[in-house]
Amino acid sequence: MAYDSNNIFAKILRGEASCIAVYEDTETLAFMDLMPQAPGHVLIVPKEAAVNLLDLSEAGAQACIRTTRRIAIAVKKALGVEGLHVAQLNGAAAGQTVPHCHFHVIPHAAGTVLRM
Ligand code: 5GP
Repeated sequence: MAYDSNNIFAKILRGEASCIAVYEDTETLAFMDLMPQAPGHVLIVPKEAAVNLLDLSEAGAQACIRTTRRIAIAVKKALGVEGLHVAQLNGAAAGQTVPHCHFHVIPHAAGTVLRM
């Protein structure tokens, strides 16, 4: 799939659409999900134009994993949840709805089960 720079996360990265940002570095941005699956649901995106993980450079993938880990640690500490779901969908067939690579960090209360 060719990268479409009109997708909503590309617009957020360019400052053309708003978001509640929680972390930014030279390679990644993390912001709150608009329709959270649980309170504290954060999305991590690379600044690189990549449709999904398969399209992302090695360096971009490393940056995303580093930021995702930092966010997971921060969310767990801030909310005191017992577990965290880290998810990343590739392709519409897998349920990916926004065609810019992204990772989900979703807090879990004890006993809850999440299906992506
Ligand atoms: P996917 O299903 O592609 O893995 O996840 C896309 C995620 O992006 C969904 O959790 C959805 O709620 C979130 N999302 C879609 N549009 C927006 C938006 O405009 N702003 C933010 N912050 N999140 C969005």
